[in-house]
Amino acid sequence: MFNQTAFIEKIRTVGFSLGFSQIGITSADISHAEPAFLAWLDKGFHGEMQYMSQHGTKRTRPAELVPGTVSIVSASMNYLPSNGESWISKEWQALERADQGVISVYARGRDYHKVLRQRLQKLATFMAQELDPLGYRVFTDSAPVMEVELAKQAGLGWRGKNTLLLNREGGSMFFLGEIYLSVDLSAHAPTLPTESHCGSCTACVDVCPTQAIVEPYLLDARRCISYLTIEHPGSIDVALRPLMGNRIYGCDDCQLICPWNKFAKLTTLSDFDAKAHLTHQSLLSYWSWSEEEFLNHTQGSPIRRIGYERWLRNLCIALGNALRQSHLSANIHQDIRAALSERLTYPSALVQEHLNWALQQHTSSLP
Ligand code: SF4
Ligand code: SF4
Repeated sequence: MFNQTAFIEKIRTVGFSLGFSQIGITSADISHAEPAFLAWLDKGFHGEMQYMSQHGTKRTRPAELVPGTVSIVSASMNYLPSNGESWISKEWQALERADQGVISVYARGRDYHKVLRQRLQKLATFMAQELDPLGYRVFTDSAPVMEVELAKQAGLGWRGKNTLLLNREGGSMFFLGEIYLSVDLSAHAPTLPTESHCGSCTACVDVCPTQAIVEPYLLDARRCISYLTIEHPGSIDVALRPLMGNRIYGCDDCQLICPWNKFAKLTTLSDFDAKAHLTHQSLLSYWSWSEEEFLNHTQGSPIRRIGYERWLRNLCIALGNALRQSHLSANIHQDIRAALSERLTYPSALVQEHLNWALQQHTSSLP
């Protein structure tokens, strides 16, 4: 007779051998999360992420996305680079260096979509061999999937006030992936939802440079630097630009400040190791990349997906913010202005508008 409990243990063992740090299994019923999600959409907090709204209730009703889904494997994979010792203090220091560009920690290595997808696929193949017939589909941030809610329900952690999944053993420095299953394995999965350990802490809400966490557990993506630098396609609100500092791709502040991230684990996979040219280089060296160099330097990286135009847009904001900093030397200011001016005729209205804004920051910072 098929022993589900033993099978779930095997899934975990295989999952851990593939580099996953946690594996949980949950029922596909997350209907309790639907009202809050729809209210979030109603407020327009998803900004221009139309994919958030266009899939209707597929996100909150997994069986509408993959018919026949009754349970779901939720898996996490640590991504903190294995060369990332003392990472929290290094990241805060980099944010203070206005002439350096800061790229979110998760994006400095290989694109997680590919790494996770391949490994989830291997895990799913193992399951299908053992449990025939099994219908399944794997997801890695690539479809309307409520991954934090599923992970929470699968016992991988709690949803922090910064809206990310947290756990006591690994903070929030991990990716999530899912396998939708046509067989109900949840009844025998020894996982229980984890209670919240945020307590009275509000550090993430307080530290957010743009006040994007409008209240605990509620994110206005339109103000979030991760959204603005990665997802937002057009002009960035002038009022938010000075608050973005030197963050040119993503933002980690609400994770850096989280006390649970003192327990974040280094990845066991070299795929996520930080590439030197994507880690704390000068803004001017990033700005000097031609489009071809941008494509070469970001090959296999998630950064490539924003394209060269958004890359330059983000850099214009960071360079403009550097020009506002009186503690940087006159020579640095001069080099930045000269480098910006070289692209005054760059054939993109978006880049030109941000570039002109950047040059004006120098004038506005003069006594
Ligand atoms: S990623 Fe940055 S901007 Fe977005 S909520 Fe967190 S601290 Fe705020
Ligand atoms: S910083 Fe504090 S409130 Fe925010 S997620 Fe971490 S523990 Fe929770």
